[in-house]
Amino acid sequence: MPAVNENAAGGILTVYNAASGLKVEVLDAIEVRDVVKQFGNGNQAMLALDGVSVSIKKNEFFTLLGPSGCGKTTLLRMIAGFEFPTAGEILLDGLEIGAMPPFKRPVNTVFQSYALFPHMSVAENIGFGLEMLRKPKAEINARVDAMLALVKMSALKDRRTDQISGGQAQRVALARALAPQPKVLLLDEPLSALDYKLRKEMQLELKRMQAETGITFVFVTHDQEEALTMSDRIAVMSSGKILQIGTPNDIYDRPANRFIAGFIGETNFLNGVVIKNNSATSSVYIAGGIEIVAKGIRPKGSNATIVIRPEHAFLTKGHQAGLLNGTLKHVVYSGIDTQYHVELTTNEMMMVRVQNKIGGGLGLSSGDAVSMGIQADAAQIMAD
Ligand code: ATP
Repeated sequence: MPAVNENAAGGILTVYNAASGLKVEVLDAIEVRDVVKQFGNGNQAMLALDGVSVSIKKNEFFTLLGPSGCGKTTLLRMIAGFEFPTAGEILLDGLEIGAMPPFKRPVNTVFQSYALFPHMSVAENIGFGLEMLRKPKAEINARVDAMLALVKMSALKDRRTDQISGGQAQRVALARALAPQPKVLLLDEPLSALDYKLRKEMQLELKRMQAETGITFVFVTHDQEEALTMSDRIAVMSSGKILQIGTPNDIYDRPANRFIAGFIGETNFLNGVVIKNNSATSSVYIAGGIEIVAKGIRPKGSNATIVIRPEHAFLTKGHQAGLLNGTLKHVVYSGIDTQYHVELTTNEMMMVRVQNKIGGGLGLSSGDAVSMGIQADAAQIMAD
């Protein structure tokens, strides 16, 4: 049954069943279907997005994560309406938005550079979008006050925005984007200009604001730690494609392939040959004569890469039969944990992380002979 748009011209997207006239409940805020984006033509052609499909749920904190140039900003700009797909469709609240211009979409964007108006006060910046929409004065004042409270900037409402700190400017930019109550807020690396501590604080603040407003957030970052901390779900992108969509836990503990395992968190890789298949695991023969049982099935006789997270391995002093033997090369203390870099007898470099405890420590130094073990169920076989 075709669905109709109540008032696309006014930017209000509501889906009705054309036959019954009843409002249709759409669970996805955004649906991207087989989107391709090519910049330029001929030998100048650049495929920025190569058949991307993703559904982002209402009220979700969704992150597009990937290395520089993978196409995350291009996808975000298409949802905003600043770019248009070469092929494929983008639906907002169940309706294809096709060529709808940015200002008619119920979507707002927070950019990396906050783009505040320096000659205006904090409150005037926040109210600017509402003024443009010609909202009544009383409504604007009430919304601005609510937004100031949300971003904890009420005390600085009359300060000019060229007289506030970077972290405060970030809060004002968020408040300004949230003030018109968009259905979707797009955030393009908005924390990248902040120092480490402020960035950590703002990550939690952003989560709080998303929960309090119930607005769908689509967040772009190349920082995997940031993505893991904040997101309900993450899409990992590479070379214009989405490689995996899942919760932070899915992506970290069950990476779909070697690229994701290497990109998200720190990872040890071991190469070997599958010698036996069990019900849900495979036994892999590693150079040096060790057999490792890893989660996942690959054909017997095939080459396989095993992934082991550094926190899922352990070290003991001296060489032992059946473990991965090597020499401790570096010990790096990082406050929360200590990283032990081990060169195996096969010359492969491995890393083991051990959480620091009062009076703890492994009592190991560079140059020691060590053996590395793997916790039960921690090794996984990857598809390349
Ligand atoms: P970053 O994290 O560095 O911002 P990104 O993942 O957001 O990277 P995009 O900005 O989406 O990547 O760019 C994807 C690819 O498309 C890149 O190779 C980029 O050079 C190219 N690209 C983006 N915009 C244009 C354009 N207007 N014309 C030509 N190529 C473009």
